[in-house]
Amino acid sequence: MTGNCNLPSLRIGLGFDTHRLEPNGKLKIGGLWIDCGLHSVGHSDADVLMHAITDAILGALGEPDIGRLFPDTEVDNRDRDSADFLIEARERLKTAKMSIVNLDCVILAEKPKMAPFIDEMRNTLARYLGIEFHQIGIKAKTGEKVDAVGRGEAVSARVVVLLTAAY
Ligand SMILES: [Zn+2]
Repeated sequence: MTGNCNLPSLRIGLGFDTHRLEPNGKLKIGGLWIDCGLHSVGHSDADVLMHAITDAILGALGEPDIGRLFPDTEVDNRDRDSADFLIEARERLKTAKMSIVNLDCVILAEKPKMAPFIDEMRNTLARYLGIEFHQIGIKAKTGEKVDAVGRGEAVSARVVVLLTAAY
């Protein structure tokens, strides 16, 4: 990517996603399946963190968002592994000759407690994105018993990503 040579070739992206939670099953989040008696509802495997990361990267690149690239009206996307979306975002990074400086993520969920799973999520996501563990930050917050997250009805994620010209 070329630009004004006086400015660093940096791009910032923001991703946001929410899925409804329902009883039973396992929760897919950050590439892990957590056995917590809840599952998130969606057309794909409903991995809220992978979706927010994908949208942050696509947004930074000025590409169409995840819903336009992988419409929920397409049978092929039903129960699809959300890792496919990250792999597509990684391909688009390569095409744009950009790479990830870092990602910072916030998971919002009343249950389950995410702390025991955070480092494994960082390892898993780093592997799919071809970056290092330390380039991914993940925090988990509850909804303080208010709004849909706080009532345990939804799981949500926010992600910012910083990209630089590939080095
Ligand atoms: Zn989603």
